[in-house]
Amino acid sequence: MNFKQLPLHERILKAVADSGYTKPTPIQIKAIPKVAKGADVIGIAQTGTGKTAAFTLPLLSKLVDKTEANEARHTRILIIAPTRELVQQIHENIRGYAKYTNLRTGVIIGGIGDKGQIAKLESGVDILVATPGRLLDLVDKGHGNFHQIETLVLDEADRMLDMGFIPDIRTIVKKLPKSKQTLLFSATLNRQIESLTKEFLNSPTVIEVERRASPAETIEQIIYEVQEHQKTELLEHLLNSSHEFYAVMVFARTKLGAEELTKALKMEGITAEAIHGDRSQGQRRRALDEFKKGKVRVLVGTDVAARGIDVDGVTHVINYDFPEQSEDYIHRIGRTGRAESKGIAITFITKANQQALKKVEKLIQKTLPKKQVEGFKYDQDTPEPNREDRRNTPVAAKSSGRTGEYQNKFANRKNNAQAKRPGGSKRKPTGARTKRKK
Ligand code: AMP
Repeated sequence: MNFKQLPLHERILKAVADSGYTKPTPIQIKAIPKVAKGADVIGIAQTGTGKTAAFTLPLLSKLVDKTEANEARHTRILIIAPTRELVQQIHENIRGYAKYTNLRTGVIIGGIGDKGQIAKLESGVDILVATPGRLLDLVDKGHGNFHQIETLVLDEADRMLDMGFIPDIRTIVKKLPKSKQTLLFSATLNRQIESLTKEFLNSPTVIEVERRASPAETIEQIIYEVQEHQKTELLEHLLNSSHEFYAVMVFARTKLGAEELTKALKMEGITAEAIHGDRSQGQRRRALDEFKKGKVRVLVGTDVAARGIDVDGVTHVINYDFPEQSEDYIHRIGRTGRAESKGIAITFITKANQQALKKVEKLIQKTLPKKQVEGFKYDQDTPEPNREDRRNTPVAAKSSGRTGEYQNKFANRKNNAQAKRPGGSKRKPTGARTKRKK
């Protein structure tokens, strides 16, 4: 099967050829004809399968001739996605696929001023890509005209559900015409998603491209067991020991954790940027751009901010902190091994994560291999820094609860490193510290 056999407009086909795609992916083969016919579709597919093109290519194809015949522009396609990054990414894809058309597009996201967005809404663009919150804000203020919407796309519906966006979406959908096409994409199909599809879609066709909740086949998954206090040291060891780790996404549990881990990596001379909800939209965008351009090697993110990020050639995903929700494991590792390329997903686990790991293995129906990193000096058990080290390092941050969590680990690691150097510590290390696994 090639793209020419699919019902796509020749100008869209030309742009697809420029993207270098040689053949359509399974979801594209299945979804494009249905979407082109105007059917409601439920697409069960993870990011990395080519699902964005599966809905944007046929929708753009349908608009090309119609829009040129119609000068009074109204928004025809509304795409709603959970995060700002994902919205921008979908928009960038659309700009690429629509480059040989004169279709107008716009983005509605929070975190930046709304003037330009209001202007876009008022002037009428053919395709709008939006996060639910900001869209609802502007719609509530009376901006935009959605009476002529032909297609509504709800992307990453499972995530929108998790993030509590469904009431906003319900309010927005009420403002759209009843007779429209609706497409809903989700990485997983569970009861809640099924009930959403009943609410928003009309006799939908279900297209599922992979086993339920299975990570893409192109990802090699590895587990490294490590004590909590050695995680930063292990991460740095991995990054320093191989040049193959050149575009690495690291997942931390909290915003603060992501920030502190980024600082620790920078202190070691490793280029890193953080992407999380406490950073401004500009900072998040810059971090992502620099990572995409290869200016920084490591992007440290939390689950929400990193969701759906599509960067070609992410060589490794590292779960520094184990994901709180089993399904997040699948979303995280899906940042690598995208489309046809291979990727490696590494997960650090501590004793406290063993149960959660079992849950993940049950979900992905696979036992993950546990390995040890060659050349890394594992501590047998948690060493206590000696008194002198305590005075000289920020380990005292312990008293401030979670604040300083990573600096703490970083300081511990420094202490250990000192102790490991001949004559590096005035006190003899405890017995446990001298016994190292290979
Ligand atoms: P998505 O699942 O939409 O996030 O897409 C994942 C990645 O696959 C993106 O980087 C797309 O540019 C790329 N992609 C989409 N369709 C194809 C295709 N037919 N061949 C190769 N790469 C593709």
